[in-house]
Amino acid sequence: MILLALYAIAVWVGLAVWRRRWLGFALLVGSLLPLAAFTVWAGYMGSEPGAAARMGFIGTLAGYGRVIYMVSGFYAALLFGVGAVIFAQPRRLGAHQCEGCGYDLRGSGAERCPECGREASSVDSNGLRADLQGR
Ligand SMILES: [Zn+2]
Repeated sequence: MILLALYAIAVWVGLAVWRRRWLGFALLVGSLLPLAAFTVWAGYMGSEPGAAARMGFIGTLAGYGRVIYMVSGFYAALLFGVGAVIFAQPRRLGAHQCEGCGYDLRGSGAERCPECGREASSVDSNGLRADLQGR
């Protein structure tokens, strides 16, 4: 059980680091694959007569097929639900980045972001946002 908690924490930390990136998305989806594999395997073990007995403790565990499905389903939902929320958190922008798309505005001097067209009037020619100056 402690392994399940550690696994979830490892996945969520990874999602926080790679949030709103493809790597994070891959982690979000990929983290469910071992669970799915285990659930299918446990279901198979629970359905084949004699298989559970050969597997010892794990087999005993797998014998509770429906419980396994419920627990792993609940765990997967928790892992994915919390993970999706973490993944959706906005990335922190640097002082020189466009507030709309994160484009690096240093040296552009333009009044609008060349990437998304968002007004960049609060960014001076050095690319520093006015609200972040004078600290
Ligand atoms: Zn932009």
